[in-house]
Amino acid sequence: MATRVTFIGAGNMASAIIGGMIDSGFSPSAITATSPSDAFLAPVHERYGIHTNTDNVAAVAQADVVVLAVKPQIMKEVCEGLAGVVQRQRPLIISVAAGLDAATLEAWLGGDLPLVRCMPNTPALVGTGASGLCANARVSDEQRALATELMEAVGLVEWVEEEHLLDAVTAVSGSGPAYFFLMFEAMEEAGVKLGLPADTARRLAMQTALGAAKMAMASDKSPAELKRNVMSPGGTTERAIEHLEAAELRRILAEAMDACAARAREMA
Ligand code: NAD
Repeated sequence: MATRVTFIGAGNMASAIIGGMIDSGFSPSAITATSPSDAFLAPVHERYGIHTNTDNVAAVAQADVVVLAVKPQIMKEVCEGLAGVVQRQRPLIISVAAGLDAATLEAWLGGDLPLVRCMPNTPALVGTGASGLCANARVSDEQRALATELMEAVGLVEWVEEEHLLDAVTAVSGSGPAYFFLMFEAMEEAGVKLGLPADTARRLAMQTALGAAKMAMASDKSPAELKRNVMSPGGTTERAIEHLEAAELRRILAEAMDACAARAREMA
């Protein structure tokens, strides 16, 4: 029988994962999403043909996997409401909530459950996410493979073996999209100063980021080598890179990512 997956919450993140699962061949009839609000359930039901339910406990009663996809602020109440049914059913729990550690979630759910904590990022909403996953000791190899399959439906999956490393994942990919958005803003502003129309500069900056990422991912060469390859001695790129290095872009980025990871630790 197909693995039955229940999403608690039917918002942005749940819909993105559900859409990705269906695109990658998962049967809609094996998926259920819950929400107290029909405003969230009607669109996922119509769009994906999955089951929906306003009752979390009933939706989990037959589930093999439960994906916790509600806002962190209401997670305690939601988990405590599910404790009885998950202790009977013992599904794999996957949490995509930011800032809630595995031990806390497990305690709210009554303890002693296989649980995967996942740190996704917002590009998951367009199928190009990057997620860090960490399993507790009760997760089997088969359940790990299942969690990989689910999150790969919305992009790249990287496992970390120690939970504190999810703070580092937050600093790289969780918050990372915003670093690139800042780059786009800055490149657009600088392009305008150089005389380009704003929308032209914006499109060129974004396409360049996409091209650089695709090229780096398709290549065996390191980013340092790829950079050297586009820097002819005395040329334009060399001049720009010298400027960025002299302004210590690397140090600034490292400090920003340290601050991000420290904030993630504080919030856990
Ligand atoms: P959202 O507000 O879009 O969705 C939340 C869903 O929870 C809604 O469908 C709501 O009806 C439902 N809900 C509220 N109370 C409920 C209850 N008692 N029982 C069941 N469902 C209930 O939020 P989102 O952006 O999808 O975020 C969900 C989780 O994903 C959060 O924990 C967030 O930290 C995490 N996350 C989201 C993103 C993102 O890009 N949106 C990125 C990383 C992590």
